[in-house]
Amino acid sequence: MPETMTDPRQLLVHELGDIYYAEGVLVKALPTLAEEAQDAELRAGFEEHAEETRGQLDNLRLAFEALGEKPQSERCPAIEGIKREHDEFLADHETSDEIRDLFLTGAGGRTEHYEIAAYSGLITMARALNETRVVELLEENLEQEKAALTKLESCGRRLAGVAGSNGTSN
Ligand code: ZN
Ligand code: FE
Ligand code: FE
Ligand code: FE
Repeated sequence: MPETMTDPRQLLVHELGDIYYAEGVLVKALPTLAEEAQDAELRAGFEEHAEETRGQLDNLRLAFEALGEKPQSERCPAIEGIKREHDEFLADHETSDEIRDLFLTGAGGRTEHYEIAAYSGLITMARALNETRVVELLEENLEQEKAALTKLESCGRRLAGVAGSNGTSN
């Protein structure tokens, strides 16, 4: 049965549940990404973001609390799909370390873009509802996602150069 929803606040709580679920998936996936990465900077970046993600989950619990709600996950098929692309690529390809690292920067970047979109939408809704504490908490998470994306992109540019120089040239 479809659930009735007529209040923007219900949508805010629902979408908060979606990113809460996604961050829960990521807090488990990031240490795996760190292990898969061979490049020291990329590995350290994933480790650092895993730690940040624990704080992001705390912020989300505080955001639920500020709304007078219990933290509740809503299954996020998008994050499961992004994770599945990663899992399937690595299962289906025998790569060099350089190519795997380069792949991981892209897989990480897809994740950060999804999170940035989710937090941006949530902040817009929370601001419209004058939930200033929620805005503050979500902006902290958003800034961390943007910084993580910037680092991944910089690793990606460097690794694309390295991987490219190993390929055959004409
Ligand atoms: Zn719902
Ligand atoms: Fe996150
Ligand atoms: Fe989602
Ligand atoms: Fe992130």
